[in-house]
Amino acid sequence: MTKNNNPAHATDMHYGALHNHLVQADKAATSLIDALLPLADLYPIASSHEDDSKLLDIASFKTVPTAIVPPWGMFTPLTENKHRFLLAKDGLHIEVRRPWLHFIHRLYEEKSIAMPFGEITPRIDLAFGRLGVALDLMRAFVRDAMDQLPNEHIRHLAWDEQAQALVPVDLQIETATPGAVQYRAPDLPDHQTLAIDIHSHGALPAFFSDQDNKDDAGSVKFSGVIGNLDTSTPTLEFRLCVLGLYLPVHVPADKLFGG
Ligand SMILES: [Zn+2]
Repeated sequence: MTKNNNPAHATDMHYGALHNHLVQADKAATSLIDALLPLADLYPIASSHEDDSKLLDIASFKTVPTAIVPPWGMFTPLTENKHRFLLAKDGLHIEVRRPWLHFIHRLYEEKSIAMPFGEITPRIDLAFGRLGVALDLMRAFVRDAMDQLPNEHIRHLAWDEQAQALVPVDLQIETATPGAVQYRAPDLPDHQTLAIDIHSHGALPAFFSDQDNKDDAGSVKFSGVIGNLDTSTPTLEFRLCVLGLYLPVHVPADKLFGG
């Protein structure tokens, strides 16, 4: 009788046990995927169950979903601070939520084909009611911008959910010239969100430059520019920026510069 102390044999036994574990784990993973795949039907993605990219497509869909406006039921607005697309009877809309904004806007109209979706009303609902409530803060900025002539100047106004008010943000102006202003914006506390971004062009006219379009791209905020501040008839342009959309907003010059 011999006693087997052969280390090679012991290693074989370990490999055998490991192999069995891996086979079991593989079976468990396969049955888990089989169980989860029917859930993929919850997402309206036009790809096969076998598509290796299915989970990535689902993750992408969940980040920016598309929802059907119910033709019969009651529409429930987006509550999270994100955006989604809405398929409505008259075409494709976008819905955006920020602490100060609820926005629904039609992107593409469809008139020829009857689509089985409900109707939705476009809206721009502001937590502060209307842009006019910021007039005093903006007039204060106009005075500061005149003091900075001929250089550009900038101010951010944030919506403060705790105070339920618009408040100026403490920007660090790094350099300012007649053609540009460079600044550092602080990280806002959780209860504040940028709502209005207004800058001056000093003595030059108010218009949204290519640089302004780059700065505003993809953001959600009101953007304003004032100019000709060295004259008795300063100029201004305002727009609502929503993820690349720019909607002109009329602000009467006499409200901002008068008095
Ligand atoms: Zn500008």
